[in-house]
Amino acid sequence: MRLCRYDDDRLGVVIGDQVHDVTPAQDEIRRAARYDMFGDAVIAALPEWSGKIAEMAKKAPGKPLSQVKLLPPVARPSKVMAAPTNYRAHIAEMAERSGTAPENHRGIGAAGIFLKANSSIVGPSGTIPLRFLERLNEHELEVVIIIGKKGTNISRENALDHIAGYCMGLDMTTRGKEDRSFRKSIDGYSPVGPWIVTADEIADPDNLPIVLTVNGVTKQESNTSNLVYDIRKLIEFASSFYTLHPGDYFFTGTPNGVSPVRPGDWVTAACPQIGELKIQASEQK
Ligand code: MN
Repeated sequence: MRLCRYDDDRLGVVIGDQVHDVTPAQDEIRRAARYDMFGDAVIAALPEWSGKIAEMAKKAPGKPLSQVKLLPPVARPSKVMAAPTNYRAHIAEMAERSGTAPENHRGIGAAGIFLKANSSIVGPSGTIPLRFLERLNEHELEVVIIIGKKGTNISRENALDHIAGYCMGLDMTTRGKEDRSFRKSIDGYSPVGPWIVTADEIADPDNLPIVLTVNGVTKQESNTSNLVYDIRKLIEFASSFYTLHPGDYFFTGTPNGVSPVRPGDWVTAACPQIGELKIQASEQK
């Protein structure tokens, strides 16, 4: 199932090129949810509700995708996690830039997971409002995990049980010497979308071809089979430090090919099994 949020906080199921309105399910789930819960009530309720939502979608009127404004697929994430240096070819390109050997760069095990501010999240209908245009602002193409179930110290064997689904993401980055979490947390520097593809539709998350274009020109192309820490290990590693909550976003790392983004550029991040996130960069005013 492809679940989206759109227009004025509506919940939809995408079938073909139509969005079917299942907002009544969202209303009922939210009414029953505790305000003090960590994470997103709709994502937390999916194990119980996904069958009902799929049925509801069949009867609900459709609206063409081209006529809706797609929002970030999770309304209330408790956090946004991100994996640094998780493709060898990206480590190599960053090492080359700095004129040092790749072995001298900390791997993900030593560097750890970092957090991006929730306020940096933006959906496909938004823009990436670039700041610090005199500095290097770059795209990072990433598959994003949506956590489905609360857990801590999750084992590799159980990791996939904690995943609700996947979407595409851009870990937008201003290069520089500040902490990653600071440079990568600018408003709009975490585009996500276009929707959540539920985990049951992804046979093998460690074999997802991904591609990124800027204004139609391919810049990044890889496969999650090249991840240093694969999807299961990322869940195991992050949850050894953090409790994961339903609706948490987890950016899984970028392959090589990162390049500058400037106001007006159209950036697309695509995976055949997930969909295409397309968003335009602007200038922050
Ligand atoms: Mn990244």
